[in-house]
Amino acid sequence: MMERIPILKGCIWGPMESPRLGKTVWVNPLPVGYKLCSFNCLYCRLGASDTVAADITPYLRDLPSANKILTELERTLKRGADFDTLALSGNGEPTLHPDFPKLVYGTRRLLKQYKQDKTFALLSNSSTLVRREIRELVGEFDLSIFKLDAGRSEIFQRVNRPDPGLVFEDMVEELRKLGSRIHLQTVFVVGPRGNMDSNDIKLWMRTIMGIKPKVVEIYSINREYPGMGIEMVPLVILEELARKAQRNTGLEVVAYGNWK
Ligand code: SF4
Repeated sequence: MMERIPILKGCIWGPMESPRLGKTVWVNPLPVGYKLCSFNCLYCRLGASDTVAADITPYLRDLPSANKILTELERTLKRGADFDTLALSGNGEPTLHPDFPKLVYGTRRLLKQYKQDKTFALLSNSSTLVRREIRELVGEFDLSIFKLDAGRSEIFQRVNRPDPGLVFEDMVEELRKLGSRIHLQTVFVVGPRGNMDSNDIKLWMRTIMGIKPKVVEIYSINREYPGMGIEMVPLVILEELARKAQRNTGLEVVAYGNWK
């Protein structure tokens, strides 16, 4: 769900170069024809969605089974594909897949079987952390990156446009429990619907300080989103913000280039 990748047309995609993850094979446990996510972020690279859902029961038939994904992944590994990272991400929120635990354990097993000493990464929007079985899987990944674009509920609603059942404070509480086991990722945007007012930055810093992740990665967008009320933040401003956040929170905060 987060990275410089186009809409994925299969359940295994890549390897593709990623600025942070290196050469990456993407595992997409979501539909290939449309986005299926519990958020509908203003800046989503997959476009706006009609299907914002924390409960994906009506869409199950469009999802590849865990067995199909693992079979395709095994084919990729057998071929000896050259890559650094295997990332669970895709056309929406990967942890929504009903067999997500099976997929995670199966992928781990295949990496071991084919002696692939790769980084196994999860990129998630944090919305399913209220489910214990998802939290318990975090330890299976070498790198877990969770989204947090806001320091208060109103900004969460405005920028991430989540499923109405999702509660910002609950999500933050679950992120807090994971603390230094995870990376946080924040996308900053300016404009009438942005998340960069000085008060919002203060609240965001307070929130990340409460979570205490291992690293906070900050990004902006790198294209125009007509009619969305958001614009990109130049890298120089992001870098300044990263330094300020690092000083104020004591956390490692890294600004990356722009995010599609
Ligand atoms: S979390 Fe946001 S950016 Fe990621 S896939 Fe969902 S809507 Fe798009």
